[in-house]
Amino acid sequence: MAPVTRLGEEMHALVERLYPLCRSITGDGVRATLDIVGEYVPLRVHEVPTGTQVLDWTVPQEWNIRDAYVADASGRRVVDFKESSLHVLGYSVPVAATLPLSELREHLHTLPEQPGLVPYRTSYYKPQWGFCLAQETLDRMPDGEYEVLIDSTLADGHLTYAEHVVPGQVADEVIVSCHVCHPSLANDNMAGVAVATFLARELAERTPYYTYRFIFAPGTIGAITWLARNAERVERVKHGLVLACAGDRGQLTYKRSRRGDAGIDRVMGHVLRTSGRPHTVDEFTPYGYDERQYCSPGFDLGVGSLSRTPYARYPEYHTSADNPDFVSPAAMEDTLAVVREAFAVLDRDRRYVNLSPYGEPQLGRRGLYEALGGRSDTKEAQMAMLWVLSLSDGEHGLLDVAERSGLPFDTVAAAADALRAAGLIKA
Ligand code: ZN
Repeated sequence: MAPVTRLGEEMHALVERLYPLCRSITGDGVRATLDIVGEYVPLRVHEVPTGTQVLDWTVPQEWNIRDAYVADASGRRVVDFKESSLHVLGYSVPVAATLPLSELREHLHTLPEQPGLVPYRTSYYKPQWGFCLAQETLDRMPDGEYEVLIDSTLADGHLTYAEHVVPGQVADEVIVSCHVCHPSLANDNMAGVAVATFLARELAERTPYYTYRFIFAPGTIGAITWLARNAERVERVKHGLVLACAGDRGQLTYKRSRRGDAGIDRVMGHVLRTSGRPHTVDEFTPYGYDERQYCSPGFDLGVGSLSRTPYARYPEYHTSADNPDFVSPAAMEDTLAVVREAFAVLDRDRRYVNLSPYGEPQLGRRGLYEALGGRSDTKEAQMAMLWVLSLSDGEHGLLDVAERSGLPFDTVAAAADALRAAGLIKA
């Protein structure tokens, strides 16, 4: 990985700011998260009422929490939500009771295999309450009575998600989607949110070819809600990427779309392969993050997923060890660099038609050799022109040219620009 610049540090600072908030699939934690992201890029925030039918699902009641703890007989908080939002089972119904440890145990979640860590647990669709704590903490709790309090509200309200759009030269869209429903976990998925946010900011510095739509939504129900409310827009979504677990120190992993050969699959494969980075490409599975929804057969979008170490393949996954120290500025910067490069390829990958296809056109007469003068890669640039002319039959795009010729995509795209300027090819 390249040395960290200010960009990596800024993304990490954003992760640190977002990390403590108690997010869930609904509620004020999501809103507070979007407020902070909104300081970096303007967001359009959507509030969808409880009970709204979204595809086969229904928007649930909104969950909010103010305090939660388990206190011992002396009143000391042995488990305290104020120390970490992981300590409460997500979507816990309210409770205020005093009960013996033997009964309390049914509501306690630990990781006996990782006794020092607090697990992340939720119960969205089955009403219950619970606490998550380190096994070591539980082992130190003597028998006796404990006071438990969960000051939460489950009530009709809204599901909140947000979009940021970078307008392009065409209405066809690329979507970038990140889940914003996990509480105090850094890699999963505040790192993805930070990378998406900074990517959105960069893209807005020029007018990209595609229109880029960033979706910050709670996992599953949020993506389903977006799809339900954007049935017509989906036609215009040509490519997409789900960003998750984007900041750990492991190597990059790209998971293909369900189609397996969508434009994004080819571009990500090409960029990762030619970048020389160690990486993994996984086939699609109907599990994971919101690619599941975007790739469901009714929509069948060309949406892949980029992670560093994928979910559940690192021991810190869904535990208190997934904290801001677990994500690195350099890793986030590296993830951003790959997506930046991939989108640059997506944006320039066109099919052209050779307007002088009978024999090779005379390049010298058109000043095309001189145009290459001074380039350190003159020979490559010349080969790129010949390849573009040869494959510009309306069937092959510039990525095909780069793959078949083995030439860098940038060189091929520059050759196409020169040939188009000379009137030898047209899109
Ligand atoms: Zn997760």
